[in-house]
Amino acid sequence: MKPTIVLVGRPNVGKSTLFNRLTRTRDALVADQPGLTRDRHYGIGRVGERDYLVVDTAGFDPVAKDGIMHEMARQAEQAIAEADVLLFLVDGRAGRTPHDEQIAARLRRAGRPVHLVVNKAEGLERALVSADFHALGFGAPLPVSAAHGDGIKQLVELVLAPFPEDGDRKSTRLNSSHLVIS
Ligand code: GDP
Ligand code: MG
Repeated sequence: MKPTIVLVGRPNVGKSTLFNRLTRTRDALVADQPGLTRDRHYGIGRVGERDYLVVDTAGFDPVAKDGIMHEMARQAEQAIAEADVLLFLVDGRAGRTPHDEQIAARLRRAGRPVHLVVNKAEGLERALVSADFHALGFGAPLPVSAAHGDGIKQLVELVLAPFPEDGDRKSTRLNSSHLVIS
């Protein structure tokens, strides 16, 4: 099985732009209008010999009770359940917001590894960006620019490091009758 990377974060932080970067497609709709990606959206990416699945979600309001925001939250919840690892995106230009803090509270209960990704970080002072978002409690924030491609390769390698490579898995299958990792 390919590891499944799920992108979550409030609307407009750049999830769909990052999805496109990670899958090298234009599949996810990128727009200035918040909330445009209403369904979960799947794509396959590859770094070196390693394939991974990426899931884009709509902007996520974990406390929405009805309407389209509720439906988006439901989709995001399903995506979280499918995740091997979560990328929690925030906007380095906007700074930390109360909405980010709500999402952080939800993700703390996700029972999955979470990496905090500070997008739109091109040209921003790394130390300042990190200081602001450190308070969300997911360790050192990883600054990237999805639009420019900065920091993406390092991000993917870090995120996938705990997962076995396909090559390893194949040889595990061939060499052992009772140890199958899939
Ligand atoms: P989503 O709602 O989280 O999926 O966000 P989108 O991917 O649709 O992007 C929202 C807006 O942020 C768009 O105008 C993007 O062009 C812009 N954006 C995305 N990534 C970056 C980035 O790395 N830097 C800057 N400056 N803008 C970005
Ligand atoms: Mg989107």
